[in-house]
Amino acid sequence: MAKHIQAIRGMHDLLPEQSPLWQFLEDRVRGVFERYGYREIRTPILEMTELFRRSIGEVTDIVEKEMYTFEDRNGDSLTLRPEGTAGVVRAGIQNGLFHNQTQRLWYRGPMFRHERPQKGRYRQFHQIGLEAFGLAGPDIDVEVILVTRRLWQALGLEGLELQLNTLGTAAERAAYRQRLVDYLERHREQLDGESRRRLATNPLRILDSKNPEMQALIEAAPALIDHLGDGSRAHFDGLCRGLDEAGVPYVVNPRLVRGLDYYGLTVFEWVTGRLGAQGTVCAGGRYDGLVEQLGGRPTPAVGFAMGVERLVALLEEQRDGLPLRQPDAYLVLMGDEAARRGMQLAEQLRGQLPELRLITHCGGGSFKSQFKRADRSGARLALVLGEDELARGVIGIKTLRRAGEQQEIPLQRLAEALPEWLRTAETA
Ligand code: ATP
Ligand code: MG
Repeated sequence: MAKHIQAIRGMHDLLPEQSPLWQFLEDRVRGVFERYGYREIRTPILEMTELFRRSIGEVTDIVEKEMYTFEDRNGDSLTLRPEGTAGVVRAGIQNGLFHNQTQRLWYRGPMFRHERPQKGRYRQFHQIGLEAFGLAGPDIDVEVILVTRRLWQALGLEGLELQLNTLGTAAERAAYRQRLVDYLERHREQLDGESRRRLATNPLRILDSKNPEMQALIEAAPALIDHLGDGSRAHFDGLCRGLDEAGVPYVVNPRLVRGLDYYGLTVFEWVTGRLGAQGTVCAGGRYDGLVEQLGGRPTPAVGFAMGVERLVALLEEQRDGLPLRQPDAYLVLMGDEAARRGMQLAEQLRGQLPELRLITHCGGGSFKSQFKRADRSGARLALVLGEDELARGVIGIKTLRRAGEQQEIPLQRLAEALPEWLRTAETA
């Protein structure tokens, strides 16, 4: 026998067992986004490599070592998108979405990063993200965070903590960068290899190091938030005030930096202690310079991206409490004539009851084996049609999730009677 071909490491199938949880999440998230006036945008999974180099930044982890980049048959360098914002901004510029207008947009889909696979970290993973363009004030930052709070409510997720920081303006970051480098140079012997390398390329990312031996050094480092200009200070204060007024608790974390270069002013993350080391389920912030950097007119912007796998992992724990819908009924068909008539009957029922989820048995087999399948399908009711029932113009009906005798309904009355049967046959 030929050797089985396996999926690529770090890339996973979503099996039918798990898809209801994903659909529940996607439906709820979409519902919340729509309530705030955000509209969906879909962009290609492949983009020119240049797009990510110019937006995410040359010396970030993503661009340096995580991108799936290849040459296509024309010799163009293409990359599987590692995140969604760059593509959305590119599409917005290309289609004139930012000309004298604000845009509230959201997107979803697979992203690709060649990272070391582990729990909560994959090479193909999924993000759902939101972006607001054309609004510069802290009010929209507040709105974006309120959307996330409502998402957690809609999903029934509790215990997430909001962490907040500000990265100031580009000039403030440059001045701070020097201050930070001076400090770190003085303690060079305490830096690990990775951080020494970053000292020259991307020193702010050292603050993000997970190395426990460097935490004391990082704690004592100068903080950007203490060296803000008036404008940045006012923006951050406005954000904090808005969150206070909306009753959203947060923790200011001066070490919070993001792994992408385009962020400035507001940055935030929602974190949980329940997922081990990969505890950030949502991350975002303001990126006022990016549209211009990619060739558009100056356009302020703020957004976030959520890691779907991590949110699903949280939902998994409370799966039993979620309204995940099973099939309603399974139609058991005994004999050739019943099989033919049953197929028609099922179609007729689906036409009459638009909400009905009905599985028709295919492939014949014994009564026992068909009932076994009915049971395994998760349906609440079995409908039974055999030659005897056909002759008498009735259909058998039996609850599957709790005890009860099989009963009969006249075929003409089935569509009318079924909804009531389904209501009383709710899962015990
Ligand atoms: P991390 O610090 O966990 O690597 P990041 O800063 O690289 O995250 P972003 O690029 O901001 O993350 O992505 C937003 C969210 O997408 C993350 O908070 C996380 O929930 C999710 N995410 C990022 N990378 C992965 C991955 N490789 N596998 C699964 N989820 C991911
Ligand atoms: Mg990362």
